[in-house]
Amino acid sequence: MKITKTTAPKAKYTDTSKLGFGKYFTDHMLVMEYENGAWGEPEICPYAPFSMPPATNLLHYGQGIFEGAKAYRTEDGKITVFRIDDNFARMNRSATRMCMPTIDADVVKSALFELLRLEQDWIPTAPGTALYIRPTMIADEEMLGVHASKRYKFFIILSPVGSYYANGLEPTKILVEEHLVRAAIGGTGEAKCMGNYACSLMGGEYANRKGYDQALWLDAAEHKYVEEVGSMNMFFVISDTVVTPALVGSILPGITRDSALQVLRKYGYRVEERRIGMDEIVAAYDNGQLKEAFGTGTAAVISPVGVIGFRGKDMVINGGKMGEITAFLYDKITGIQSERCADEFGWVTEVK
Ligand SMILES: *Cc1c(COP(=O)(O)O)cnc(C)c1O
Repeated sequence: MKITKTTAPKAKYTDTSKLGFGKYFTDHMLVMEYENGAWGEPEICPYAPFSMPPATNLLHYGQGIFEGAKAYRTEDGKITVFRIDDNFARMNRSATRMCMPTIDADVVKSALFELLRLEQDWIPTAPGTALYIRPTMIADEEMLGVHASKRYKFFIILSPVGSYYANGLEPTKILVEEHLVRAAIGGTGEAKCMGNYACSLMGGEYANRKGYDQALWLDAAEHKYVEEVGSMNMFFVISDTVVTPALVGSILPGITRDSALQVLRKYGYRVEERRIGMDEIVAAYDNGQLKEAFGTGTAAVISPVGVIGFRGKDMVINGGKMGEITAFLYDKITGIQSERCADEFGWVTEVK
């Protein structure tokens, strides 16, 4: 594999408490180009700007997808990754939806491991920190006609990250969005494509202006059923049952969502994947059965929800504090990721 090392390594962060999310990038990246119907060899090169013609179709039609995963440095010094095969499998499903070529996951994974070994000194070790892995694929043909590109660029950049939320594990406030829509069945909601994010920004900003952290999206047809929040899947504890919206096609199939479901089922919790109407949430809240709410996603892992704003009223969940099941899942999943807990599900791979 061709590796071109930087001649100007950057100064590394000194204070892991100020890392935030996605602000710093390591010295190198992985790049692989697709043309004439085939992927070339992956290469490692210095992290640097891309140069592309203004007519590059990505810049006009948004044919682009990405993934998010994390690498960790364990207490005994190993480099590990969490469920990375699931990320590449999902990326290939997103690629197919967006008429983009699939990648050979084994080739890309071993190239990623090479990159991780090279950048290992960038992996932070403080609790809650990790090296975020961002695989991305973009349409790279100079062409204004509207059809799938003939050239693509795949790349992976790495970013040392702290806790996703500035206020750590503080429960977040979310606002139910009843007018704008993130995704409809038959659309691209279950693909991790760039446009989904662009179209969700306005709902997020609207929530921020009203004093909430994020928007909670409802289904596109009836604006009634819970879908997801920002970049997280949504869970509720109603009475003694953990419920999460079923993957109906407009919801991103989160890997953390799946991890949470597997942990809950293994530990004997009652779990349901189904439609959840806002009327059901409000009724459960009113009769004291809405015990907990939380979001799941690679960046935040498990994020407790303390307040749900709906039609001008705030539902304060569990007194605005993190609930028991939320805390159990956070400890269990971050425990497996950091090797504090046994890897009962075979989710952790060592980068040797
Ligand atoms: C990435 C993402 C998630 C979370 O998926 P994970 O695999 O758990 O990180 C949830 N919703 C959306 C819209 C996403 O893009």
